[in-house]
Amino acid sequence: MLLSELQNGEYGIVSKVRGRGAFRKRIIEMGFIRGKKVTVIKNAPLKDPIEYSIMGYEISLRRSEANLIEIITPEEAKELVKTSYNGTLSPHNDWELVRTGAKAGSKIVNVALVGNPNSGKTTLFNNASGSKEHVGNYGGVTVDSKMAHFKHKGYTFNITDLPGTYSLSAYTPEELYVRRFIHQQKPDVVINVVDASNIERNLYLTTQLIDMDIKVVVALNMYDELEAQGDIFRYNDLGKMIGIPFVPTVSSKGKGISELFDKVINLYADKDKTYRHVHINYGRQIEHAIEAIQTPIKDSDNQNINIHYSSRYLSIKLLEKDKQAHRITGKSGSYDEILAITNQQIERLEDIYNEDSEILITDAKYGFIAGALKETYTENKHKKRQNTQIIDAFVTHKLFGFPIFLLFMWISFYTTFKLGAYPMDSVLNSVKSAV
Ligand code: GDP
Ligand code: MG
Repeated sequence: MLLSELQNGEYGIVSKVRGRGAFRKRIIEMGFIRGKKVTVIKNAPLKDPIEYSIMGYEISLRRSEANLIEIITPEEAKELVKTSYNGTLSPHNDWELVRTGAKAGSKIVNVALVGNPNSGKTTLFNNASGSKEHVGNYGGVTVDSKMAHFKHKGYTFNITDLPGTYSLSAYTPEELYVRRFIHQQKPDVVINVVDASNIERNLYLTTQLIDMDIKVVVALNMYDELEAQGDIFRYNDLGKMIGIPFVPTVSSKGKGISELFDKVINLYADKDKTYRHVHINYGRQIEHAIEAIQTPIKDSDNQNINIHYSSRYLSIKLLEKDKQAHRITGKSGSYDEILAITNQQIERLEDIYNEDSEILITDAKYGFIAGALKETYTENKHKKRQNTQIIDAFVTHKLFGFPIFLLFMWISFYTTFKLGAYPMDSVLNSVKSAV
């Protein structure tokens, strides 16, 4: 249950602090740490703030902040002890019972799979959860997601298979769905499923997840194909660079899945050494624009927005002329100012580069990816060439190319006239006989 739902005098044990980066950190720093007891001093209906006592301190939280904290009540704890230990555990006293229950309750991890279509999300989902979801593309079918539960190393995972997307703009229903899911459901960890044999395009989505400032681990899926190509990818180096752990997987064979969820546990428990929030550098001019838009968003009056969305993320989205970002910031009292600065910055950037601001951001993202891969990815120069590549090499060859072109043109004309002569003759004959 949420901390905000506890009434005067009631207590619970913190099981989870949701939300992203900075806000989550602030709440944890105030003492709302997993396993700590928190008691309500004063929670008046519809009144802000709420007063709590934790670790001997009295602390006021806004209702929106208390909504981010999950707690286990004594009643919930009793139930959890029953279901988690099947009656094999009998704690000595009530407090021990509550503690044990809360411990079990804090081992529930919500995970979402995000990635390009055909990167292997459903295969990974099936393999991890043991379910037999049909693998395939449902073109045109209503956007939806599948959820399953499974246990791994004492943790219970609620895993959601989200629709495949190449990006997180708001252009398609799938993209909107995935974005909303991340912002509203706030999964504890997002698994970004990446097709290792098509890394550059797949990482585009990863850069958008970085902007969102959420906990991400990359499942470097189809790793068998990367190995078959003979390419070398120093993914750990890239991971350190972008603050996201990478785990190679071959979902179709179940390889790496266990290691992947070990990583998820580490990330969830704030124990992963690779994970950190980085900023993608968009270059001096764009960075200047982001900062300018960020200033009014960061205003303390906008806490209800900032709690759910990174101000940097919103600024980038506003620069991309994203309707959703306008809808979100539209609720702010300083929207007029945000809008004015956004328009002014877009105009300035488009003047400098003579290019649409949305394209400027996309280019910068791909630039960032290219730079990162240059340092960490070595393509195999002696790849076995595929038949199509051999044909391509011939028909586009400097010397042979043109004669081959003429040959095909000749064949095309020859067959048109020679073969066309037969039906032509019969048509003429039948016309003649009719006359
Ligand atoms: P989704 O669109 O992301 O859900 O992708 P699917 O799970 O439907 O997988 C797309 C295709 O890739 C299927 O034919 C899978 O069998 C195949 N596939 C999934 N994971 C791997 C992998 O690790 N290696 C290889 N070679 N193929 C995989
Ligand atoms: Mg799928």
